[in-house]
Amino acid sequence: MDEILAATFRRAVHDRLDYLDKLAADGDLRSRAALASTEIARLTSAWRSVLDAHQPDEHGRCPQCSGWLRRRAHPCTVWTIAHQHLMAADGFPAAENGRHARAADRLAVAPLGAS
Ligand SMILES: [Zn+2]
Repeated sequence: MDEILAATFRRAVHDRLDYLDKLAADGDLRSRAALASTEIARLTSAWRSVLDAHQPDEHGRCPQCSGWLRRRAHPCTVWTIAHQHLMAADGFPAAENGRHARAADRLAVAPLGAS
């Protein structure tokens, strides 16, 4: 994929996410109900696809996030971000602390409904 096509690809995905955010925030009740009935299933399917690609191998390492020299232990960044966004009790997690932040340290979020 050349650079221009890749940028167009990224922009299209971000535009779609912006559209969904705007519809969820500003849409009327009917629009939000339609959004929930269609987009939640698409988003959960997307998450499952991404997480499937980052399943640990037989050595407990993520094949997608591991490099040639260094194997990435599970949970990798993708699983950590999924856990933070799907399990956080009070909205979006704080910003990442850098690429060397330990994944296990970032798992300390409460499940929904916990208080
Ligand atoms: Zn991974």
